[in-house]
Amino acid sequence: MEKRELLYEGKAKKVYATDDPQLLIVAYKDDATAFNGQKKGTITGKGVISNRMSNRLMARLEWAGVPTHFVEELSERETLVKRVTIVPLEVIVRNLAAGSFSQRYGVEEGVVFDRPTIEFSYKNDELGDPLLNSHHAVALKLATPEELETIQALSFRVNELLKEFWSQCGVTLVDFKLEFGRLTDGSIILADEISPDTCRLWDAKTGEKLDKDRFRRDLGGVEDAYAEVMRRLTEHDAQ
Ligand code: UDP
Repeated sequence: MEKRELLYEGKAKKVYATDDPQLLIVAYKDDATAFNGQKKGTITGKGVISNRMSNRLMARLEWAGVPTHFVEELSERETLVKRVTIVPLEVIVRNLAAGSFSQRYGVEEGVVFDRPTIEFSYKNDELGDPLLNSHHAVALKLATPEELETIQALSFRVNELLKEFWSQCGVTLVDFKLEFGRLTDGSIILADEISPDTCRLWDAKTGEKLDKDRFRRDLGGVEDAYAEVMRRLTEHDAQ
C-alpha cells in the first residue's frame, strides 16, 4: 500500500491517503508537545516505540473483541489503519489519581480509586480541550447518546484488558486517553494511539514514571523510560 497525499499533520503523527478510500497510513514522529502545544521537544526514537506499542496493544484488544482501526504495521514508523471520522472527544479513564485530576480535585497523585473513573473533553485546541459531560457532548452534537454508551462501555473494557496486560509486565496503568471514530456504516471503533504519550505508566514496584510525564515535568531519562516500557512489552510477548 503506497502513501498518497498528506491529509493531516498533527503533533505526533502524519496521516496520508492511500489508493483505498477506506484506508489511511499513519506515520509516527519523534516530536513531543505538552500543555496544549506550549512545550515542544523531541524524544528520539519515540515514533518507533509509539507505533509498535500502539499496534501490539490494539491487536490484543481486537483479539479480545474490541473493534479498532489497526490493519497492518508497514514499517517501524508507519501503519495502515481504517479511515474513520474522529468523534471529537478525548476519553480519559483513570485507575489512580494523577495529573489534571489531582490538580482539579486536590487529590494526591497515586491515590487508588475503588473503581475506574471516566471523563470526556471536547477535542478543540482553540478552547483548550475543555472538560465536558455526556449531556454537553449530545447538546454540541459531538455524538449521540447511543454512541456515548458504546464509547463508555468500550473504554472501560479497554481499561480492564490493558490494566491486566500491563500488570503482567510489572507496570501500573494509572490513566490513559482514547479517541474513537465512526466507519462509513456508522459503527464506532477505537482509533488514534495507545502509547507512553497517551498513558501514564508507573513501575509497579518503585512507582517510577515510564511515560510522557518525564517530558512534561522535565524529569530526565525520557528516552530511557520509553525504551523500558517497550522492552517490558516485547519481553512479555516473547514469553
Ligand atoms: N492525555 C493525552 N492527551 C491529552 C491529555 C491527556 O494523551 O491531550 C493523557 C495523559 O497522557 C494521561 C491521561 O490522558 O495519561 C490523563 O491526563 P490528564 O487529564 O491528567 O492531563 P495532564 O495532566 O496530562 O494534562
